[in-house]
Amino acid sequence: MRFERLLSNDRITRLRLLRQLMGLGSYLMFLAPGLLAVHWGWTAFGYGGLFALVATALVVNAGFFIAIRSGYSQRFRDATLLAPQIVVALALALVTMHYMRPEARGVMLMLYVAMFFFGIFGLTTRQFLRLAVLAVASYAGLLVYEFGGYAQHTPMFRLELLHLVALVMITVWLSFIGGYFAALRQKLADRKDALKDALAQVKELSERDELTGVHNRRHLMRALERERQRASRVGATFSVAILDIDRFKQFNDVHGHQIGDEILSGFCVRVQQCARELDVLAREDVEEAFGRYGGEEFLLLLPHTPLAGALRCLERIRTDVEATPFHTSAGPMQVTFSAGVAEFRPGESSANLLARADAAMYGAKRDGRNRVAAARDDGARVGQLE
Ligand code: GH3
Ligand code: MG
Ligand code: MG
Repeated sequence: MRFERLLSNDRITRLRLLRQLMGLGSYLMFLAPGLLAVHWGWTAFGYGGLFALVATALVVNAGFFIAIRSGYSQRFRDATLLAPQIVVALALALVTMHYMRPEARGVMLMLYVAMFFFGIFGLTTRQFLRLAVLAVASYAGLLVYEFGGYAQHTPMFRLELLHLVALVMITVWLSFIGGYFAALRQKLADRKDALKDALAQVKELSERDELTGVHNRRHLMRALERERQRASRVGATFSVAILDIDRFKQFNDVHGHQIGDEILSGFCVRVQQCARELDVLAREDVEEAFGRYGGEEFLLLLPHTPLAGALRCLERIRTDVEATPFHTSAGPMQVTFSAGVAEFRPGESSANLLARADAAMYGAKRDGRNRVAAARDDGARVGQLE
């Protein structure tokens, strides 16, 4: 758990730190050959020197770790500090090699491979090649420094030249392969993001009503269930209202389906507008709470609202809809609706709650339409829904 906390809660930072620890791991991997080289006397330094190298690697890694963990590295484009880390590793390798007998240096070439391998986490081929040039040039520089103008024909120098040629081959080759893999990784990450966006879009579409653009029944059922669970958990209340346009069929019959569709869309805009003006719902919550339940029936969820408040709210919406005719391409149309309102009873199922609201709505229709009716709350369960 402590280790978990060390790694930050931010997913990206965490990933960067994990990679950094992997880098540290590869430093430590070289401890075993290092110990052997010192033990057999292949190095100019003893155990103390090896210890100093390991300590330097640890301190440098701790520095990088802190720079990433604290967020300091985020001011750079390469927030993983990949290139600087590789450069530091190159420098350490160079120092080590300087104090190693040339016969043993071949092993260090493997360290170069390990270093370049880390570039796969984000370097382009061009960046890789820059590092390759740096690696080769610094190694060549070391040779010039050590051999200067003499000993070019000794087997030792030839061995070093062999190392240099191998280093050129390895680093250039790894640059192309590494760049290719880094690009592949990026492409995969991009695809993943695109897929995530597409899925979010599909989800959004699957919860929208095609005609009116408001949420559909699927969304409403989920929202209702969420609200029901929330209310049950905290012992709160909420209400639902079913709104059904009065004699809607007549609009279709007299003016055609197109006008009926326009009225449905206009109805959604009007109800949402009106709900936003009431203080029962937060403005931004209206879109979530309202939707098309089916045909010309709509549902409004009223979180934290007891029956009396919900009835007042619906009554306001009803008078607003009644007061101003809807604009359609066939001229203004007077529209009214009937609504049934039910307040959630603790322990009640969503289906039962809806059934009570529906029964109330039908009661409003029977009583002459263009009215809001409260659902019965006599403890009786409704119909066969339970
Ligand atoms: P009441 O006052 O009793 O509610 O009468 P009503 O005519 O509104 O009710 P009824 O359920 O008899 O008719 C609803 C009509 O709504 C029937 C159907 O053709 C129409 N309808 C359902 N969905 C759509 C739609 O997407 N577009 C259009 N234009 N009409 C629709
Ligand atoms: Mg109906
Ligand atoms: Mg109707």
